[in-house]
Amino acid sequence: MNKAQHFERFVSKIRVRRNGCWQWMGSFRSGGYGVAWSRREYRAVGAHRLAYEHFIGEIPNRFEIDHLCRNRWCVNPTHLEIVTRGENTKRANDARTHCKHGHRFTPNNTAVYKGMRYCLKCKRDSAMNYYWRTIGRPERGTVTPRLRR
Ligand SMILES: [Zn+2]
Ligand SMILES: [Zn+2]
Repeated sequence: MNKAQHFERFVSKIRVRRNGCWQWMGSFRSGGYGVAWSRREYRAVGAHRLAYEHFIGEIPNRFEIDHLCRNRWCVNPTHLEIVTRGENTKRANDARTHCKHGHRFTPNNTAVYKGMRYCLKCKRDSAMNYYWRTIGRPERGTVTPRLRR
């Protein structure tokens, strides 16, 4: 596959959501991040990292990509920011009033089960993700969703 074909294939796995996020329709790894094949590194990398490289530029060593929108499945390059590992961890600690995806634990958005708080938006999102990755995918044939186990 040449570079243009590779790019085309990458873009074909993106669906734009109404909130501006670009939902990755390809494979996912367990943490909720999309994965895609990198031509340059010759291995599977985070789909959001690949999006950053495709649309913005190379990611320097020891840096990672943070989601400003907190949606791990999002590959919109304008929702991505380059940070050092330390910054990313610090942000995660600062967000204790929020779920790990950055949604506020408001009474309307919080379910409690066996003493644990759950974010209802995330529950809905993961249900939607499952839906989009399986039965709900549009244009069958252009998208090849696979669950990584
Ligand atoms: Zn986004
Ligand atoms: Zn959440």
